[in-house]
Amino acid sequence: MAEHRVVVVGAGMAGLVSALQLAHHGLSVTVIDKGGQVGGKMRQLLVDGAAVDSGPTVFTMRWVFDQLMDAIGTHLEAELTIQPLKVLARHFWEDGSQLDLHADPHASYQAVREFAGPAEAERFVQFCKTTMSVYDALEGPFIRSPSPTMAQMMTQLGPRGLATLASVGPMRSLWQSLGRQFTDPRLQQLFARYATYCGSSPWEAPATLMLIAQVEMDGVWSVKGGMHALAQCLMRLGAARGVQYLLNTECERIELTQGRVSGVRLSSGDSLHADSVIFNGDVAALRQGLLGPGVKQAVTGRVQPRSLSAITWSMHVPTAAMPLDRHNVFFRSNYSQEFEAIFQQGRLPAQPTVYVCAQDRGGTETVGNTERMLCLVNAPAIGDKRAFTPAELEACTASSQALLAGCGLPVQLEPSSSCVRTTPQDFHQLFPATGGALYGQATHGWMAAFARSNAQAQVPGLYLAGGSVHPGPGVPMAAMSGRLAAAALMDNLGLTKLSPRAATSGGTLTH
Ligand SMILES: Cc1cc2nc3c(=O)[nH]c(=O)nc-3n(C[C@H](O)[C@H](O)[C@H](O)COP(=O)(O)OP(=O)(O)OC[C@H]3O[C@@H](n4cnc5c(N)ncnc54)[C@H](O)[C@@H]3O)c2cc1C
Repeated sequence: MAEHRVVVVGAGMAGLVSALQLAHHGLSVTVIDKGGQVGGKMRQLLVDGAAVDSGPTVFTMRWVFDQLMDAIGTHLEAELTIQPLKVLARHFWEDGSQLDLHADPHASYQAVREFAGPAEAERFVQFCKTTMSVYDALEGPFIRSPSPTMAQMMTQLGPRGLATLASVGPMRSLWQSLGRQFTDPRLQQLFARYATYCGSSPWEAPATLMLIAQVEMDGVWSVKGGMHALAQCLMRLGAARGVQYLLNTECERIELTQGRVSGVRLSSGDSLHADSVIFNGDVAALRQGLLGPGVKQAVTGRVQPRSLSAITWSMHVPTAAMPLDRHNVFFRSNYSQEFEAIFQQGRLPAQPTVYVCAQDRGGTETVGNTERMLCLVNAPAIGDKRAFTPAELEACTASSQALLAGCGLPVQLEPSSSCVRTTPQDFHQLFPATGGALYGQATHGWMAAFARSNAQAQVPGLYLAGGSVHPGPGVPMAAMSGRLAAAALMDNLGLTKLSPRAATSGGTLTH
């Protein structure tokens, strides 16, 4: 067979994974990205001389990467230094209360008991059992499935899985469901926040999203060199297998010949021939026609509202003696106003929850006088419609600063040489057609998860990979979608003995 050339548009998590996998099987692969570094949202900014992780910070579901490494003949630990965190996350409330969740379930139980009393600790134990059974029920029929449909999922769930889903009430919102499982509103709030991991409101996300809590309780790791090191590791492994990476290279159009993908045209005016293209940008860019009219109708799935955007501050600052851990969440007493402001009114919340990743903490190293931090508040994905006014930004900044200062972390969030701010408008520039949405479409309503497109686009030779397609956003999920796209391509070429499902089930693709 003549050499089959693949161009991967986008060096985000999914693009890097699919390129690596295909090159490992001998295909000729070129990855192009409009940005100047690989990783996409998993980016690092140089702030005051320090490399600050400014995208995802929570590394979970390591089995996804164990399987990927296994499939290319190596081991995660041989390629990357990762360390399990003892404290999964530290939570602060305005009233001065504080709760750590631990990797050790018994330590979490004790912490919840001290925080909210023995009866609530028992409810926490029950909640953990429920989230585990929801995760177990959905992992095969949904998360690992290349192209799940409701009907097929129902069949695969079996009586036990169906009973599990019925017990949490899949038609209920996550917020409602948690209200039945906890009496302490702070625990309802803490576990509701997991909806934001896929950019959704706890009031509109289905109860089944509680499985994200299980994902975190299964373990959180820190990566030496930051999450961005994972992207660099995938690039190094890809390059060793012949992948060519062209950065600062934007795809302006996906070209078709007789209805089939034949290459990409770059904004420089050059073209690259391709027999197949994997598109790793947000599928909204295809739908909006940004990649040309030929691929505008290439995406299946229903259009859903955009997921959350964010304002982030990447910082290298003194933090004094604040008892932070690596992952810290600062909560308000009124949680619903945040999501009403964002999803109903399209404005910045007056009282945002603030997430702080203290990237030098959680390991064995001692923290110096200054440390690297990423602060994040949720924001509406309207970066393509308007910029926030200085007054809006100031109010959000002042409110976030006041919350942090009240909890003992007196940091300045004003942009400066040691603090770089990124807004939804900036994210929209980085990730076209998104308005700054960081997690594709929101998972609102119980059918939303089925609205995402799968890896196979409606144009021959075009494949989709990334957080906006199945199985959804987040680093491990995007990695899975990269494997699914590679598997679908190989399958269409008749190069695999195993089905695409093997790509996410630990199976090795073989010639
Ligand atoms: C601030 C922040 C915090 C987050 N926190 C977490 C977390 O803690 N845990 C977690 O699991 N996930 C988190 N996420 C989400 C996670 O980062 C994403 O879901 C995941 O990285 C998306 O990967 P992707 O494969 O979709 O590619 P993306 O990261 O979206 O990359 C797509 C790439 O395509 C390129 N591209 C697009 N169009 C073109 C074009 N026309 N030509 C050339 N290149 C193009 C872009 O430049 C980009 O590099 C976070 C995201 C952000 C931004």
